[in-house]
Amino acid sequence: MNTLILAQAAAESAPAVPATVINLAYIVACVLFIFGIKRLGKTETARSGNAISSLGMLIAVVAVFLDADVMKSWTTDWIQNGYLWCFGGIAVGALVGAVWAKKVKMTGMPELVALFNGFGGLASLLVAWSEFAKLENGAPAVHDVAANPVSEVSLYLTILIGAITFTGSLLAWGKLSEKISGRPVLFAGQQVVNALIVLVALAAMVVYLFPGLVSAGDAATVQTVALYAGIAVSLLMGITIVLPIGGGDMPVVISLLNSLSGLAAAMAGFVINNNVLVVAGCLVGASGVILTVIMCKAMNRSIGNLLFSGFGAADSGSSKKAGTGAEPKAVSVEDAYLVLEAARSVVFIPGYGMAVAQAQHVVKELAAKLEDNGAEVSFAIHPVAGRMPGHMNVLLAEADVPYEQLKTMDEINPMMPMQDVAIVIGANDVVNPAASSDKSSPIYGMPIIKANEARTVFVLKRGKGKGFSGIENELFTLPNTRMIYGDAKATISSLVSEFGKE
Ligand code: NAP
Repeated sequence: MNTLILAQAAAESAPAVPATVINLAYIVACVLFIFGIKRLGKTETARSGNAISSLGMLIAVVAVFLDADVMKSWTTDWIQNGYLWCFGGIAVGALVGAVWAKKVKMTGMPELVALFNGFGGLASLLVAWSEFAKLENGAPAVHDVAANPVSEVSLYLTILIGAITFTGSLLAWGKLSEKISGRPVLFAGQQVVNALIVLVALAAMVVYLFPGLVSAGDAATVQTVALYAGIAVSLLMGITIVLPIGGGDMPVVISLLNSLSGLAAAMAGFVINNNVLVVAGCLVGASGVILTVIMCKAMNRSIGNLLFSGFGAADSGSSKKAGTGAEPKAVSVEDAYLVLEAARSVVFIPGYGMAVAQAQHVVKELAAKLEDNGAEVSFAIHPVAGRMPGHMNVLLAEADVPYEQLKTMDEINPMMPMQDVAIVIGANDVVNPAASSDKSSPIYGMPIIKANEARTVFVLKRGKGKGFSGIENELFTLPNTRMIYGDAKATISSLVSEFGKE
Protein backbone atom coordinates (compact mmCIF):
# COMPACT_ATOMS: atom_id res chain seq x y z
CA MET A 1 0.00 0.00 0.00
CA ASN A 2 2.84 2.32 1.02
CA THR A 3 4.66 1.55 -2.22
CA LEU A 4 1.58 2.43 -4.22
CA ILE A 5 1.16 5.77 -2.43
CA LEU A 6 4.86 6.54 -2.95
CA ALA A 7 4.60 5.62 -6.65
CA GLN A 8 1.58 7.85 -7.09
CA ALA A 9 3.36 10.71 -5.34
CA ALA A 10 6.39 10.21 -7.60
CA ALA A 11 4.11 10.29 -10.62
CA GLU A 12 2.44 13.48 -9.56
CA SER A 13 5.81 15.18 -8.94
CA ALA A 14 7.17 14.00 -12.33
CA PRO A 15 8.57 16.96 -14.31
CA ALA A 16 5.69 17.31 -16.80
CA VAL A 17 6.38 19.13 -20.05
CA PRO A 18 3.58 21.68 -20.65
CA ALA A 19 1.05 20.71 -23.31
CA THR A 20 1.85 23.90 -25.25
CA VAL A 21 5.47 22.81 -25.64
CA ILE A 22 4.38 19.37 -26.84
CA ASN A 23 1.98 20.91 -29.38
CA LEU A 24 4.71 23.29 -30.51
CA ALA A 25 7.02 20.30 -31.04
CA TYR A 26 4.27 18.63 -33.09
CA ILE A 27 3.91 21.76 -35.24
CA VAL A 28 7.69 21.88 -35.79
CA ALA A 29 7.60 18.17 -36.76
CA CYS A 30 4.76 18.80 -39.25
CA VAL A 31 6.58 21.77 -40.81
CA LEU A 32 9.70 19.62 -41.19
CA PHE A 33 7.65 16.85 -42.86
CA ILE A 34 6.22 19.30 -45.39
CA PHE A 35 9.56 21.01 -46.00
CA GLY A 36 11.24 17.61 -46.39
CA ILE A 37 8.62 16.34 -48.87
CA LYS A 38 9.03 19.53 -50.92
CA ARG A 39 12.76 18.89 -51.19
CA LEU A 40 12.16 15.28 -52.28
CA GLY A 41 10.82 16.70 -55.56
CA LYS A 42 14.31 17.36 -56.97
CA THR A 43 17.22 14.98 -57.22
CA GLU A 44 19.76 17.48 -55.84
CA THR A 45 17.73 18.22 -52.71
CA ALA A 46 16.16 14.79 -52.16
CA ARG A 47 18.77 13.52 -49.68
CA SER A 48 18.48 16.54 -47.42
CA GLY A 49 14.67 16.39 -47.78
CA ASN A 50 14.77 12.83 -46.46
CA ALA A 51 16.99 13.85 -43.55
CA ILE A 52 14.74 16.82 -42.68
CA SER A 53 11.61 14.64 -42.64
CA SER A 54 13.41 12.06 -40.47
CA LEU A 55 14.34 14.82 -38.02
CA GLY A 56 10.65 15.81 -37.91
CA MET A 57 9.75 12.19 -37.06
CA LEU A 58 12.39 12.06 -34.30
CA ILE A 59 10.98 15.27 -32.75
CA ALA A 60 7.45 13.83 -32.92
CA VAL A 61 8.49 10.57 -31.23
CA VAL A 62 10.42 12.35 -28.45
CA ALA A 63 7.46 14.70 -27.90
CA VAL A 64 5.12 11.71 -27.44
CA PHE A 65 7.30 10.35 -24.65
CA LEU A 66 7.52 13.77 -22.96
CA ASP A 67 3.74 14.19 -23.01
CA ALA A 68 2.54 14.73 -19.40
CA ASP A 69 0.10 11.78 -19.45
CA VAL A 70 2.65 9.44 -20.92
CA MET A 71 5.38 10.54 -18.50
CA LYS A 72 3.04 10.02 -15.56
CA SER A 73 2.73 6.38 -16.55
CA TRP A 74 6.31 5.58 -17.25
CA THR A 75 7.78 7.28 -14.21
CA THR A 76 5.60 5.18 -11.87
CA ASP A 77 6.10 1.75 -13.32
CA TRP A 78 7.47 1.97 -16.79
CA ILE A 79 8.12 -1.72 -17.21
CA GLN A 80 4.63 -2.70 -16.19
CA ASN A 81 3.12 0.01 -18.37
CA GLY A 82 4.86 -1.31 -21.42
CA TYR A 83 7.38 1.46 -22.05
CA LEU A 84 10.23 -1.00 -21.85
CA TRP A 85 8.53 -2.70 -24.82
CA CYS A 86 8.26 0.68 -26.59
CA PHE A 87 11.98 1.43 -26.29
CA GLY A 88 12.89 -2.17 -27.10
CA GLY A 89 10.63 -1.98 -30.17
CA ILE A 90 12.17 1.31 -31.31
CA ALA A 91 15.70 -0.15 -30.97
CA VAL A 92 14.88 -3.38 -32.83
CA GLY A 93 12.83 -1.55 -35.51
CA ALA A 94 15.55 1.05 -36.08
CA LEU A 95 18.19 -1.68 -36.45
CA VAL A 96 16.15 -3.83 -38.84
CA GLY A 97 15.10 -0.75 -40.87
CA ALA A 98 18.66 0.60 -41.15
CA VAL A 99 20.19 -2.74 -42.21
CA TRP A 100 17.38 -3.48 -44.68
CA ALA A 101 17.43 0.00 -46.25
CA LYS A 102 21.22 -0.25 -46.62
CA LYS A 103 21.08 -3.69 -48.25
CA VAL A 104 18.13 -3.21 -50.60
CA LYS A 105 18.89 -2.85 -54.31
CA MET A 106 17.25 -0.03 -56.25
CA THR A 107 15.24 -2.58 -58.24
CA GLY A 108 13.96 -3.99 -54.93
CA MET A 109 12.63 -0.64 -53.63
CA PRO A 110 8.98 -1.16 -54.65
CA GLU A 111 8.91 -4.44 -52.68
CA LEU A 112 10.42 -2.78 -49.62
CA VAL A 113 7.92 0.07 -49.83
CA ALA A 114 5.13 -2.53 -50.11
CA LEU A 115 6.25 -4.10 -46.83
CA PHE A 116 6.57 -0.70 -45.13
CA ASN A 117 3.00 0.13 -46.19
CA GLY A 118 1.74 -3.20 -44.90
CA PHE A 119 3.36 -2.77 -41.50
CA GLY A 120 2.12 0.85 -41.37
CA GLY A 121 -1.44 -0.43 -41.91
CA LEU A 122 -0.96 -3.15 -39.27
CA ALA A 123 0.40 -0.60 -36.76
CA SER A 124 -2.67 1.63 -37.22
CA LEU A 125 -4.95 -1.39 -36.87
CA LEU A 126 -3.25 -2.38 -33.59
CA VAL A 127 -3.44 1.19 -32.21
CA ALA A 128 -7.20 1.30 -32.85
CA TRP A 129 -7.71 -2.23 -31.55
CA SER A 130 -5.87 -1.44 -28.31
CA GLU A 131 -8.07 1.64 -27.83
CA PHE A 132 -11.11 -0.57 -28.35
CA ALA A 133 -9.87 -3.18 -25.89
CA LYS A 134 -9.29 -0.70 -23.05
CA LEU A 135 -11.18 -1.76 -19.93
CA GLU A 136 -13.55 0.45 -17.98
CA ASN A 137 -13.67 -0.43 -14.27
CA GLY A 138 -12.24 -3.85 -15.10
CA ALA A 139 -14.94 -4.66 -17.69
CA PRO A 140 -15.05 -4.29 -21.51
CA ALA A 141 -16.02 -0.71 -22.33
CA VAL A 142 -19.11 0.20 -24.35
CA HIS A 143 -18.12 2.49 -27.23
CA ASP A 144 -20.85 5.09 -27.39
CA VAL A 145 -21.06 6.62 -30.88
CA ALA A 146 -23.44 9.35 -29.70
CA ALA A 147 -20.89 10.56 -27.12
CA ASN A 148 -17.78 10.29 -29.36
CA PRO A 149 -18.90 10.13 -33.00
CA VAL A 150 -15.57 11.12 -34.56
CA SER A 151 -13.36 8.78 -32.57
CA GLU A 152 -15.77 5.80 -32.81
CA VAL A 153 -16.21 6.09 -36.59
CA SER A 154 -12.43 6.66 -36.92
CA LEU A 155 -11.73 3.59 -34.78
CA TYR A 156 -13.70 1.29 -37.06
CA LEU A 157 -12.32 2.90 -40.24
CA THR A 158 -8.74 2.63 -38.92
CA ILE A 159 -9.24 -1.07 -38.43
CA LEU A 160 -10.91 -1.49 -41.82
CA ILE A 161 -8.31 0.47 -43.83
CA GLY A 162 -5.37 -0.82 -41.76
CA ALA A 163 -6.38 -4.45 -42.36
CA ILE A 164 -6.93 -3.92 -46.12
CA THR A 165 -3.53 -2.23 -46.37
CA PHE A 166 -1.83 -5.01 -44.42
CA THR A 167 -2.95 -8.04 -46.44
CA GLY A 168 -3.06 -6.09 -49.73
CA SER A 169 0.54 -4.96 -49.26
CA LEU A 170 1.76 -8.42 -48.24
CA LEU A 171 0.19 -9.88 -51.39
CA ALA A 172 1.69 -7.05 -53.50
CA TRP A 173 5.08 -7.75 -51.94
CA GLY A 174 4.74 -11.46 -52.74
CA LYS A 175 3.81 -10.73 -56.37
CA LEU A 176 6.55 -8.15 -56.91
CA SER A 177 9.31 -10.19 -55.31
CA GLU A 178 8.10 -13.21 -57.29
CA LYS A 179 7.56 -15.26 -54.13
CA ILE A 180 4.19 -15.99 -55.77
CA SER A 181 3.05 -15.59 -59.38
CA GLY A 182 2.81 -11.94 -60.39
CA ARG A 183 0.00 -12.59 -62.85
CA PRO A 184 -3.47 -11.22 -62.18
CA VAL A 185 -5.96 -13.72 -60.82
CA LEU A 186 -9.39 -13.30 -62.39
CA PHE A 187 -12.32 -15.63 -61.78
CA ALA A 188 -16.01 -15.71 -62.64
CA GLY A 189 -18.14 -13.78 -60.20
CA GLN A 190 -15.16 -11.85 -58.82
CA GLN A 191 -17.04 -8.54 -58.76
CA VAL A 192 -19.97 -10.18 -56.92
CA VAL A 193 -17.61 -11.62 -54.29
CA ASN A 194 -15.96 -8.20 -53.86
CA ALA A 195 -19.34 -6.47 -53.53
CA LEU A 196 -20.44 -9.03 -50.90
CA ILE A 197 -17.26 -8.47 -48.88
CA VAL A 198 -17.80 -4.70 -48.95
CA LEU A 199 -21.44 -5.19 -47.84
CA VAL A 200 -20.41 -7.38 -44.89
CA ALA A 201 -17.78 -4.81 -43.84
CA LEU A 202 -20.37 -2.02 -43.95
CA ALA A 203 -22.94 -4.10 -42.08
CA ALA A 204 -20.38 -4.88 -39.36
CA MET A 205 -19.64 -1.16 -39.11
CA VAL A 206 -23.33 -0.32 -38.61
CA VAL A 207 -23.64 -3.01 -35.92
CA TYR A 208 -20.46 -1.76 -34.24
CA LEU A 209 -21.73 1.82 -34.13
CA PHE A 210 -25.32 0.91 -33.18
CA PRO A 211 -25.15 -2.38 -31.21
CA GLY A 212 -28.72 -1.77 -29.98
CA LEU A 213 -29.95 -2.72 -33.47
CA VAL A 214 -28.91 -6.31 -32.76
CA SER A 215 -29.35 -6.71 -29.01
CA ALA A 216 -30.71 -4.39 -26.37
CA GLY A 217 -28.63 -6.17 -23.71
CA ASP A 218 -24.91 -6.76 -23.94
CA ALA A 219 -23.65 -3.92 -26.16
CA ALA A 220 -19.96 -4.59 -25.37
CA THR A 221 -20.17 -8.19 -26.62
CA VAL A 222 -22.09 -7.18 -29.78
CA GLN A 223 -19.46 -4.51 -30.53
CA THR A 224 -16.61 -6.98 -29.97
CA VAL A 225 -18.14 -9.51 -32.39
CA ALA A 226 -18.84 -6.76 -34.98
CA LEU A 227 -15.29 -5.43 -34.72
CA TYR A 228 -13.71 -8.87 -35.10
CA ALA A 229 -15.96 -9.59 -38.08
CA GLY A 230 -14.85 -6.24 -39.53
CA ILE A 231 -11.19 -7.16 -39.06
CA ALA A 232 -11.62 -10.59 -40.67
CA VAL A 233 -13.54 -9.31 -43.66
CA SER A 234 -11.14 -6.37 -44.21
CA LEU A 235 -8.13 -8.70 -44.16
CA LEU A 236 -9.92 -10.69 -46.88
CA MET A 237 -10.73 -7.50 -48.81
CA GLY A 238 -7.03 -6.56 -49.00
CA ILE A 239 -6.40 -9.87 -50.78
CA THR A 240 -9.37 -9.66 -53.14
CA ILE A 241 -8.44 -6.10 -54.18
CA VAL A 242 -4.85 -6.98 -55.13
CA LEU A 243 -5.49 -10.48 -56.59
CA PRO A 244 -6.78 -9.28 -60.02
CA ILE A 245 -3.90 -6.84 -60.52
CA GLY A 246 -1.01 -7.88 -62.72
CA GLY A 247 2.76 -7.65 -62.23
CA GLY A 248 3.17 -4.51 -64.36
CA ASP A 249 0.59 -2.54 -62.45
CA MET A 250 1.92 -3.46 -59.02
CA PRO A 251 3.97 -0.24 -58.54
CA VAL A 252 0.79 1.81 -59.01
CA VAL A 253 -1.08 -0.42 -56.58
CA ILE A 254 1.74 -0.01 -54.07
CA SER A 255 1.40 3.75 -54.37
CA LEU A 256 -2.35 3.37 -53.76
CA LEU A 257 -1.70 1.15 -50.72
CA ASN A 258 0.81 3.73 -49.52
CA SER A 259 -1.96 6.27 -49.64
CA LEU A 260 -4.27 3.92 -47.70
CA SER A 261 -1.62 3.37 -45.01
CA GLY A 262 -1.48 7.17 -44.59
CA LEU A 263 -5.25 7.35 -44.35
CA ALA A 264 -5.25 4.61 -41.68
CA ALA A 265 -2.60 6.52 -39.70
CA ALA A 266 -4.60 9.76 -39.93
CA MET A 267 -7.71 7.92 -38.65
CA ALA A 268 -5.65 6.41 -35.81
CA GLY A 269 -4.63 9.99 -34.96
CA PHE A 270 -8.31 10.85 -34.41
CA VAL A 271 -8.75 7.74 -32.27
CA ILE A 272 -5.92 8.55 -29.85
CA ASN A 273 -6.26 12.31 -30.26
CA ASN A 274 -2.77 12.86 -31.63
CA ASN A 275 -2.44 15.82 -34.01
CA VAL A 276 0.93 14.92 -35.49
CA LEU A 277 -0.37 11.48 -36.49
CA VAL A 278 -3.36 13.11 -38.22
CA VAL A 279 -1.12 15.52 -40.16
CA ALA A 280 1.55 12.94 -41.07
CA GLY A 281 -1.14 10.44 -42.11
CA CYS A 282 -2.85 13.03 -44.32
CA LEU A 283 0.47 13.92 -45.95
CA VAL A 284 1.18 10.29 -46.79
CA GLY A 285 -2.41 9.75 -47.92
CA ALA A 286 -2.44 12.80 -50.20
CA SER A 287 1.03 12.25 -51.67
CA GLY A 288 0.18 8.58 -52.35
CA VAL A 289 -2.94 9.58 -54.26
CA ILE A 290 -1.05 12.23 -56.27
CA LEU A 291 1.66 9.72 -57.17
CA THR A 292 -0.96 7.15 -58.18
CA VAL A 293 -2.66 9.68 -60.46
CA ILE A 294 0.69 10.71 -62.01
CA MET A 295 1.56 7.07 -62.77
CA CYS A 296 -1.91 6.33 -64.15
CA LYS A 297 -1.72 9.40 -66.42
CA ALA A 298 1.72 8.41 -67.68
CA MET A 299 0.35 4.97 -68.55
CA ASN A 300 -2.90 6.47 -69.89
CA ARG A 301 -4.98 4.35 -67.51
CA SER A 302 -7.74 5.23 -65.09
CA ILE A 303 -7.57 3.97 -61.50
CA GLY A 304 -10.78 1.98 -62.14
CA ASN A 305 -9.28 0.34 -65.22
CA LEU A 306 -6.13 -0.48 -63.26
CA LEU A 307 -8.00 -2.05 -60.33
CA PHE A 308 -10.54 -4.05 -62.28
CA SER A 309 -9.18 -4.85 -65.77
CA GLY A 310 -6.41 -7.37 -65.02
CA PHE A 311 -4.01 -5.52 -67.34
CA GLY A 312 -1.01 -7.72 -66.56
CA ALA A 313 -2.95 -10.68 -67.94
CA ALA A 314 -2.35 -9.40 -71.47
CA ASP A 315 -0.29 -11.84 -73.47
CA SER A 316 1.85 -11.24 -76.48
CA GLY A 317 -1.03 -11.97 -78.80
CA SER A 318 -3.22 -9.19 -77.47
CA SER A 319 -1.91 -6.71 -80.00
CA LYS A 320 -3.00 -7.08 -83.64
CA LYS A 321 0.42 -6.13 -84.91
CA ALA A 322 2.26 -8.38 -82.46
CA GLY A 323 4.63 -10.78 -84.15
CA THR A 324 4.55 -9.39 -87.70
CA GLY A 325 7.18 -11.90 -88.74
CA ALA A 326 9.95 -9.36 -89.40
CA GLU A 327 13.19 -10.15 -87.61
CA PRO A 328 15.18 -7.51 -85.73
CA LYS A 329 18.62 -6.81 -87.23
CA ALA A 330 21.64 -7.03 -84.97
CA VAL A 331 24.83 -5.00 -85.17
CA SER A 332 28.22 -5.55 -83.59
CA VAL A 333 29.70 -3.24 -80.96
CA GLU A 334 32.50 -2.34 -83.41
CA ASP A 335 30.06 -1.24 -86.13
CA ALA A 336 27.90 0.64 -83.62
CA TYR A 337 31.02 2.47 -82.48
CA LEU A 338 31.67 3.73 -86.03
CA VAL A 339 28.17 5.26 -86.15
CA LEU A 340 28.54 6.79 -82.68
CA GLU A 341 31.95 8.16 -83.51
CA ALA A 342 30.42 10.16 -86.37
CA ALA A 343 27.31 11.23 -84.42
CA ARG A 344 26.83 14.92 -83.49
CA SER A 345 23.79 14.34 -81.27
CA VAL A 346 23.08 11.28 -79.14
CA VAL A 347 20.16 10.65 -76.84
CA PHE A 348 20.17 7.88 -74.23
CA ILE A 349 16.78 6.37 -73.41
CA PRO A 350 17.16 4.31 -70.23
CA GLY A 351 14.60 1.79 -69.00
CA TYR A 352 14.17 -1.03 -66.54
CA GLY A 353 17.01 -3.03 -68.13
CA MET A 354 19.53 -0.31 -67.20
CA ALA A 355 18.47 -0.73 -63.57
CA VAL A 356 18.79 -4.53 -63.82
CA ALA A 357 22.23 -4.26 -65.41
CA GLN A 358 23.29 -1.45 -63.03
CA ALA A 359 24.74 0.18 -66.14
CA GLN A 360 24.32 3.82 -65.03
CA HIS A 361 28.02 4.40 -64.24
CA VAL A 362 29.28 3.06 -67.58
CA VAL A 363 26.52 4.99 -69.34
CA LYS A 364 27.92 8.16 -67.78
CA GLU A 365 31.40 7.13 -69.00
CA LEU A 366 30.12 6.61 -72.55
CA ALA A 367 28.32 9.97 -72.43
CA ALA A 368 31.58 11.66 -71.42
CA LYS A 369 33.45 9.96 -74.32
CA LEU A 370 30.76 11.10 -76.79
CA GLU A 371 30.93 14.66 -75.48
CA ASP A 372 34.73 14.66 -75.72
CA ASN A 373 34.20 13.58 -79.30
CA GLY A 374 32.04 16.66 -79.96
CA ALA A 375 28.56 15.15 -79.70
CA GLU A 376 25.69 16.77 -77.85
CA VAL A 377 24.38 14.26 -75.29
CA SER A 378 21.02 14.11 -73.56
CA PHE A 379 19.02 11.59 -71.55
CA ALA A 380 15.32 11.09 -72.28
CA ILE A 381 13.39 10.20 -69.14
CA HIS A 382 9.96 8.62 -69.42
CA PRO A 383 7.87 9.11 -66.26
CA VAL A 384 7.20 5.37 -65.86
CA ALA A 385 10.51 3.99 -67.16
CA GLY A 386 11.75 1.36 -64.72
CA ARG A 387 9.60 0.10 -61.91
CA MET A 388 8.91 3.20 -59.82
CA PRO A 389 8.50 6.89 -60.48
CA GLY A 390 11.84 8.67 -60.67
CA HIS A 391 13.66 5.31 -61.00
CA MET A 392 15.86 6.52 -63.86
CA ASN A 393 16.48 9.94 -62.27
CA VAL A 394 17.74 8.26 -59.09
CA LEU A 395 20.09 5.91 -60.98
CA LEU A 396 21.50 8.66 -63.19
CA ALA A 397 21.93 11.01 -60.23
CA GLU A 398 23.83 8.21 -58.45
CA ALA A 399 26.21 8.19 -61.46
CA ASP A 400 26.51 12.02 -61.33
CA VAL A 401 24.93 12.62 -64.71
CA PRO A 402 24.37 16.42 -64.83
CA TYR A 403 20.76 17.31 -64.14
CA GLU A 404 20.65 19.64 -67.19
CA GLN A 405 21.21 16.67 -69.51
CA LEU A 406 18.02 14.97 -68.31
CA LYS A 407 15.08 15.78 -70.60
CA THR A 408 11.46 14.99 -69.93
CA MET A 409 9.41 13.15 -72.54
CA ASP A 410 7.72 16.40 -73.61
CA GLU A 411 11.07 18.19 -73.96
CA ILE A 412 12.82 15.48 -75.96
CA ASN A 413 10.08 14.29 -78.34
CA PRO A 414 10.04 17.41 -80.59
CA MET A 415 13.87 17.14 -80.79
CA MET A 416 13.89 13.45 -81.66
CA PRO A 417 14.00 13.76 -85.51
CA MET A 418 17.15 15.91 -85.11
CA GLN A 419 18.99 13.23 -83.11
CA ASP A 420 21.66 11.29 -84.98
CA VAL A 421 21.49 8.32 -82.63
CA ALA A 422 19.06 7.15 -79.94
CA ILE A 423 20.53 4.53 -77.61
CA VAL A 424 17.74 2.57 -75.93
CA ILE A 425 19.20 0.95 -72.82
CA GLY A 426 16.94 -1.81 -71.51
CA ALA A 427 13.78 0.19 -72.27
CA ASN A 428 10.93 -1.49 -74.10
CA ASP A 429 7.33 -0.44 -73.38
CA VAL A 430 8.21 3.25 -73.01
CA VAL A 431 9.54 3.33 -76.61
CA ASN A 432 6.93 1.03 -78.17
CA PRO A 433 5.30 2.84 -81.15
CA ALA A 434 2.26 0.54 -80.80
CA ALA A 435 1.19 2.83 -77.95
CA SER A 436 0.32 5.49 -80.51
CA SER A 437 -0.38 3.43 -83.65
CA ASP A 438 -2.10 0.19 -82.63
CA LYS A 439 -5.56 0.65 -81.11
CA SER A 440 -5.72 -3.02 -80.14
CA SER A 441 -2.53 -2.79 -78.08
CA PRO A 442 -2.97 -2.94 -74.30
CA ILE A 443 -0.64 0.05 -74.00
CA TYR A 444 -2.50 2.10 -76.64
CA GLY A 445 -2.71 5.73 -75.54
CA MET A 446 0.34 5.59 -73.25
CA PRO A 447 2.62 8.51 -74.20
CA ILE A 448 6.02 7.20 -75.34
CA ILE A 449 9.48 8.53 -76.09
CA LYS A 450 9.60 8.60 -79.87
CA ALA A 451 12.93 6.80 -80.27
CA ASN A 452 11.79 5.58 -83.72
CA GLU A 453 12.04 9.15 -85.04
CA ALA A 454 15.82 9.36 -84.47
CA ARG A 455 18.01 8.80 -87.54
CA THR A 456 19.55 5.63 -86.09
CA VAL A 457 18.31 3.64 -83.11
CA PHE A 458 20.48 1.21 -81.13
CA VAL A 459 18.51 -1.05 -78.79
CA LEU A 460 20.53 -2.67 -76.03
CA LYS A 461 18.89 -5.75 -74.53
CA ARG A 462 19.86 -9.30 -73.70
CA GLY A 463 17.58 -11.18 -76.09
CA LYS A 464 13.93 -11.42 -77.09
CA GLY A 465 12.56 -10.61 -73.63
CA LYS A 466 9.37 -8.57 -73.62
CA GLY A 467 8.70 -5.48 -71.58
CA PHE A 468 6.52 -5.18 -68.56
CA SER A 469 3.28 -5.25 -70.53
CA GLY A 470 4.30 -8.53 -72.18
CA ILE A 471 3.80 -7.35 -75.77
CA GLU A 472 5.98 -7.26 -78.89
CA ASN A 473 7.75 -4.03 -79.90
CA GLU A 474 7.75 -3.06 -83.57
CA LEU A 475 10.54 -0.54 -82.92
CA PHE A 476 12.99 -3.46 -82.97
CA THR A 477 12.13 -4.33 -86.59
CA LEU A 478 12.12 -0.81 -88.07
CA PRO A 479 14.68 -0.15 -90.86
CA ASN A 480 16.59 2.45 -88.80
CA THR A 481 16.87 0.18 -85.72
CA ARG A 482 19.77 -2.10 -84.88
CA MET A 483 19.89 -4.43 -81.90
CA ILE A 484 23.01 -4.84 -79.77
CA TYR A 485 22.36 -8.00 -77.81
CA GLY A 486 23.88 -8.63 -74.40
CA ASP A 487 23.80 -7.29 -70.89
CA ALA A 488 23.55 -3.49 -71.11
CA LYS A 489 26.50 -2.89 -68.78
CA ALA A 490 28.78 -5.22 -70.76
CA THR A 491 27.70 -3.68 -74.10
CA ILE A 492 28.24 -0.10 -72.95
CA SER A 493 31.60 -1.02 -71.38
CA SER A 494 32.67 -2.47 -74.75
CA LEU A 495 31.59 0.75 -76.52
CA VAL A 496 33.60 2.78 -74.00
CA SER A 497 36.64 0.57 -74.72
CA GLU A 498 36.19 1.15 -78.46
CA PHE A 499 36.49 4.91 -77.85
CA GLY A 500 39.64 4.18 -75.80
CA LYS A 501 41.25 2.45 -78.82
CA GLU A 502 41.37 5.70 -80.83
P1 NAP B 1 10.25 -2.72 -69.77
O1 NAP B 1 9.18 -2.44 -70.75
O2 NAP B 1 9.89 -3.49 -68.56
O3 NAP B 1 11.43 -3.44 -70.56
C1 NAP B 1 12.64 -3.73 -69.96
C2 NAP B 1 13.54 -4.40 -70.98
O4 NAP B 1 14.83 -4.46 -70.40
C3 NAP B 1 13.13 -5.81 -71.32
O5 NAP B 1 12.59 -5.87 -72.61
C4 NAP B 1 14.44 -6.64 -71.17
O6 NAP B 1 14.66 -7.36 -72.37
C5 NAP B 1 15.50 -5.57 -70.95
N1 NAP B 1 16.53 -5.98 -69.98
C6 NAP B 1 16.35 -6.58 -68.79
N2 NAP B 1 17.53 -6.80 -68.20
C7 NAP B 1 18.48 -6.29 -69.03
C8 NAP B 1 19.90 -6.20 -68.95
N3 NAP B 1 20.59 -6.69 -67.92
N4 NAP B 1 20.56 -5.62 -69.97
C9 NAP B 1 19.87 -5.13 -71.04
N5 NAP B 1 18.52 -5.19 -71.15
C10 NAP B 1 17.84 -5.76 -70.15
O7 NAP B 1 10.93 -1.38 -69.26
P2 NAP B 1 10.56 0.15 -69.53
O8 NAP B 1 10.62 0.45 -70.98
O9 NAP B 1 11.40 0.91 -68.57
O10 NAP B 1 9.04 0.27 -69.14
C11 NAP B 1 8.58 0.25 -67.80
C12 NAP B 1 7.29 -0.51 -67.72
O11 NAP B 1 6.93 -0.64 -66.35
C13 NAP B 1 6.14 0.19 -68.43
O12 NAP B 1 5.26 -0.76 -69.00
C14 NAP B 1 5.46 0.89 -67.29
O13 NAP B 1 4.09 1.15 -67.54
C15 NAP B 1 5.62 -0.13 -66.18
N6 NAP B 1 5.45 0.50 -64.88
C16 NAP B 1 6.35 1.42 -64.46
C17 NAP B 1 6.11 2.08 -63.28
C18 NAP B 1 7.02 3.16 -62.78
O14 NAP B 1 6.63 3.85 -61.85
N7 NAP B 1 8.19 3.33 -63.36
C19 NAP B 1 5.00 1.78 -62.52
C20 NAP B 1 4.13 0.82 -62.99
C21 NAP B 1 4.38 0.17 -64.16
P3 NAP B 1 15.62 -8.68 -72.36
O15 NAP B 1 15.00 -9.60 -71.36
O16 NAP B 1 15.59 -9.18 -73.75
O17 NAP B 1 16.96 -8.23 -71.92
